[in-house]
This record gives sequence, structure tokens and C-alpha cells, in this order.
Amino acid sequence: MTWDTAHTLGKGDVVSNESLANLLREERRFEPPAQLAADANVTAEAYERAKADRLGFWAEQARRLSWSTEPTETLDWSNPPFAKWFKDGRLNVAYNCVDRHVEAGHGDRVAIHFEGEPGDSRSITYAELRREVAKAANALLELGVRAGDRVAVYMPMIPETVVAMLACARIGAPHSVVFGGFSADALATRVRDADARVVITSDGGYRKGGASALKPAVDEALSRPGTENVRNVVVVRRTGQDVDWTEGRDLWWHDLVERQSEEHTPEAFEAEHPLFILYTSGTTGKPKGILHTSGGYLTQVSYTHHAVFDLKPDTDVFWCTADVGWVTGHSYIVYGPLSNGATQVLYEGTPDSPHKGRWWEVVEKYKVTIFYTAPTAIRAAMKWGDDIPAKFDLSSLRLLGSVGEPINPEAWIWYRQHIGAGRTPVVDTWWQTETGGIMISPLPGVTATKPGSAQVPLPGISATVVDDEAREVPDGAGGYLVLTEPWPSMLRTIWGDDQRYLDTYWSRFENRYFAGDGAKKDDDGDIWLLGRVDDVMLVSGHNISTTEVESALVAHPAVAEAAVVGAADPQTTQAICAFVILRGAAAEELEEGGLVDELRAHVAKQLGPIAKPKRILPVAELPKTRSGKIMRRLLRDVAENRELGDVTTLTDSSVMSLIQQKLPSAGSED
Ligand code: ATP
Ligand code: MG
Repeated sequence: MTWDTAHTLGKGDVVSNESLANLLREERRFEPPAQLAADANVTAEAYERAKADRLGFWAEQARRLSWSTEPTETLDWSNPPFAKWFKDGRLNVAYNCVDRHVEAGHGDRVAIHFEGEPGDSRSITYAELRREVAKAANALLELGVRAGDRVAVYMPMIPETVVAMLACARIGAPHSVVFGGFSADALATRVRDADARVVITSDGGYRKGGASALKPAVDEALSRPGTENVRNVVVVRRTGQDVDWTEGRDLWWHDLVERQSEEHTPEAFEAEHPLFILYTSGTTGKPKGILHTSGGYLTQVSYTHHAVFDLKPDTDVFWCTADVGWVTGHSYIVYGPLSNGATQVLYEGTPDSPHKGRWWEVVEKYKVTIFYTAPTAIRAAMKWGDDIPAKFDLSSLRLLGSVGEPINPEAWIWYRQHIGAGRTPVVDTWWQTETGGIMISPLPGVTATKPGSAQVPLPGISATVVDDEAREVPDGAGGYLVLTEPWPSMLRTIWGDDQRYLDTYWSRFENRYFAGDGAKKDDDGDIWLLGRVDDVMLVSGHNISTTEVESALVAHPAVAEAAVVGAADPQTTQAICAFVILRGAAAEELEEGGLVDELRAHVAKQLGPIAKPKRILPVAELPKTRSGKIMRRLLRDVAENRELGDVTTLTDSSVMSLIQQKLPSAGSED
């Protein structure tokens, strides 16, 4: 795909101008609430300071952390794109996330309110967390794990998962967390790629109202070639399910960890010591082992958590609903919030177990003040109905966040209205596994927010939009999102594959990090994410963003969710093909016909005739990754009648056969 027509996405183009006009109507900007602005952790002045001295700004943020040796050099960029941040500094990441809060007198503060899916709950203070992490660190040492050894973590959302990650960090053993919903195959690939020495898992976890097993997948994965270096499997008992046992290899967490000493002196590691490997969610292809290191990563996740979520550790209750198997769980459940001494909620299960109001019940129970989730969850809640959150007391909420996909303006407004009572700011945060921390986002006490836009790079972050020739596009135009300066929590490489690191991110444009996402700048210079570059459609010479067409469809009252792809077409290069989930009543209307035509007309009216979908296909479900992202490449396979690509990272691969079965009766075609 080329962007030689990139400017058609900009000024003068019927597609983006009309949609922007729609989205930017005066009443659709929201000033920060006065009180929040007055008490905000970060004010507009931070942008000025960072602009005047970017590295000085980050050096200052690094002082949020406790270093055993303070760094004197902020950035070594002598061998780009292999960055070294704070390289002569030394610190212990787990000490920063746990011990120092206890030493500062906050040992009695709750670190984690754990809520199990069956309704069991447990609150863990920082003092307790310190003891648990020390014991787990001693346990890993007893198993012979040493600094630099990799530990795979394959767990449900329970406190031991956080303890395990911090124990690894404490002894300098990089963890590789593999999402608990992944198959034995996916686990085996990741164990092999990282050459893990120990796997930490559990018998199972509770999901969707039942106990779902994990240990069998570990047993199966470890029977595959290339995983022989795994010496031990440590198993947390969560569900009490029967498990197969390999003597000599398998150990119960409660036997091993409970008998350890509660004392462990944290060792200081170099700032560039590897902290973790995390494989990207695999929306676009073979997962990449993204490597993050210690000092720069912790600096940025700590700062962004403080700035974007305006966390007040004494009074706030933070809840990020992501799974720890996803980067959002690493940065905004474990390292960001804990480094800031936050009190947070950790919830094990799904939002609809045992009922569709479960999340809102948890918000009410713990008086959550800051809530961070993904657009897919917001759209699901919209589909389930406004009356569900209305049954709960959500008045504790003061700030809402979104991450993972572009959030459709419609969903943004619903979120603010029905979860935030029309009061709370919504921060749409753009970032990636590779960036480690939030990069583009409003600041809740500063920015007047615009539904659907991530808006501005954070202080200290340099991002822009360029055309095919790497020229920065003017306001009002679209192209590729790039990051123009290194940032502290940037990936350092792809594990074991420096060349792939260079090729994937640093070869498309010279000296610029290519994020792989399309974006545009509006007339105010605010950034709008348009979806992955691979997903951008080329229709009769126009680049059309899947995100924009999806947002137009979702803006129609009959549509709950939409996924749009470009399918090869002899006349127009690509033809727009839309898969839509309809709201209940609308599905009936469809039987009488007419709705598909109406939707096509609706998109044409919102975005211009060029963006009118050629086919609209109502479906019951959309294929999604475990982190909730729509897998458009699979829908493209379907729309082009091709054999399906890799479906292993899908939540539910049967979704695809359902969609394929529907295809022959595909909506209207002209
Ligand atoms: P893979 O790289 O293996 O295909 P992935 O990109 O889905 O997987 P992540 O790193 O979890 O894995 O997701 C980052 C991507 O998610 C971004 O590149 C972007 O496409 C999308 N994204 C995240 N947050 C936002 C946001 N606020 N607005 C728009 N898109 C977002
Ligand atoms: Mg990606």
C-alpha cells in the first residue's frame, strides 16, 4: 500500500473533511472539570519544560524512582536505534514498586483489592505484598534462577501473578508473561523463543462462570521440542482442579513459597538490565518478543501513570481491566501503579459473569475512582444496554481511560455519559507493546478532550504524522504515525533478532520509529488514529481508513459494532466490506430488508459516496484477539474467499466458521 494519495485523506478530501466536521462540532469538546484542573498532578507547564529540554525533563522524571546509584547520563543514542537510558544508574524495580512504600510508612495501605470471579475477595497491603514478593524471590533463587534467566508466567488474574512478576524483577530474571487464554502451542513457541528455565502457572482460574484449566496446557507445551531447558514448573492452587504431576519438575507454590524467609535484600541492577519480554498480541503476524529494560521503562510508566491518570495515592482507587498477559497489564497494573504506591482493583474474570453488571458492581464495591479499559469492552457494554450500569452507584468515578484500538466517538460519548455520568474526562491513550508506556493522550487537567482523538503527544514525547516521503503532513492531512525521538520506555530490540527490530520499526523512515498505524492531524493539529496501515483501504485512488467507516457505522443506532476491510476488487482496487453486529431490535428490521441499504446510505452521508460500503454483512460476533482487538486480516481472508490465516491468537476461532457460513448470502451488492 502506498500513501501517494495520502493527502486525499486531508484537506479538500470529501472523506476526512466531512467526518471531521461531524466529529468536531462545537459541543463535542469537553473542558477539564475545574476541580480536577486545579488539583491536577501535571499542568500545561510540563509541555513547555519538556520542549525546552527534553532530556532534562526525563532526567527529572527519573527522580520519581529510588536509585541505588543515581544516573548521570540520561540518554546514550550513539548507536541508534539501540538506546541506552540512564545507563550508569542502578536500581531494583521491585524495591521501587513495593519496599520503598513500606519504608515510607505506607505498609498498611492496600496495594491490591483482589476480586475473584466466583466472588471471593482479598485485600493485600503493601507490607503483605513486600513479604510475599520476598518469599517468592527466595523461592526462585532456591530453584537456581539467577539474574538474566528467563521465567515464563502463564497465569490467571490473581495476586500471585503480580507477586511472581515482581519476584522475577527483584532477582533480575526477565519474565515472559504468556496470556492465560493462549493455547499450549502458543505457550510452547514463547517458552522456546525465550529459552525459559522455569514456568509459573496455576491449576486454573475462573472465567465465564467456571474453572478453566491452565496446567494441562503447560504439560503439553513442555512435551514439545525446544522446551527442555525448563527445569521446574511452579503451580499455584487456585481452583483445586485435578492436575497431572511430573515428579522432580513440578512444585506447588504453597509448598515452595510459604516456607521461605520473608527477608530478601534487593540487589541493584543496571538501568538497562532486561526486565521482561512480552510477545505482541499477534494481530498482524508472527508474534515478536518485545524486550523492555528497567530504569527507562519504570521511569516512563511511573510518570505516565501519574500524569495521565492523575493518581493521588492516598485517595484514589485505580482499576485497569486489562489482563496482565497484555502490555497494558504490565505497565498499568503492575509497574506504573505499584511504583506510584497506588491502591488498585485486580479482577479475575469476565465482565459478564455472573451478570452483565459485574464490572459496575466492582466499581461500586471498591469505590473505584479511575477506570481504564478498552473500546471493545465499552462497545459490549453499550450493546448490553444503558440500564445495566444505571443500576449501580458509579459516583466515585472521576476519570476514565481507553486503550487498545481507536475509540469510536459514539462509544467515547456513551462511556462519558453512562459510566462517567457526563462528568468525568475520558483519556484516549495511544501506545503499543513496543512503546512500553502511554505516548499520545490528553492530560485530564489540561486538555479539552475530543471524542475519538488521542490528541497530543505527552510531555517529553515526539510524535508526528508523515507522508510516504517522510515529510510531515500539514494540519488537516493524514499519513503514517511516527515517533521522531527516542523515549525512555521504548523497546530495546526484538528478543534474539536485532535485524527484525531494525526492519520492522526503523527501516520505513530514516531515523524515525514507524509505528505501523495510520493517523491524521486535524485543523488544530490534534492526532486521530486511523487504524493499522495494513488495514487502510485503497478505493478508486482514495485511501480510506477502516476506523472512520467503522465509526460512521457505529454512529447509526442500529449498529452495535462494526469491522471494515478492503477486499480486492477488479474495478476499484479494493471494495469496502463491512461486518456489523446489530442491536436486537434492528436485527428484526433487517428481516424486512432495507436496513442494509439504509446503512450504506448513512455511511455515504457521513463520509461521502466514496466510503459507501459495497457489502454489509450482519454477523453475530467478530473475530477478536484476546486483548479485544478486531482481527481484520481474517475478515479480509473471508471477504476475498481465501483460506484463513493463523487463528491461534483468536479468543474463539469458531467465530470465523460462523462468519464464513454466512458469506454466500452477503448483503447487498451493486
Ligand atoms: P501485533 O503488533 O502483533 O500485530 P498489536 O499491535 O495488536 O499486535 P499491541 O501492542 O497490544 O499489539 O497494540 C498496539 C496497537 O493497538 C497500536 O499499534 C494501535 O494499532 C492500537 N492502539 C492502541 N491504543 C490505541 C488508541 N488509543 N487509539 C488507536 N489505536 C490504538
Ligand atoms: Mg503492533
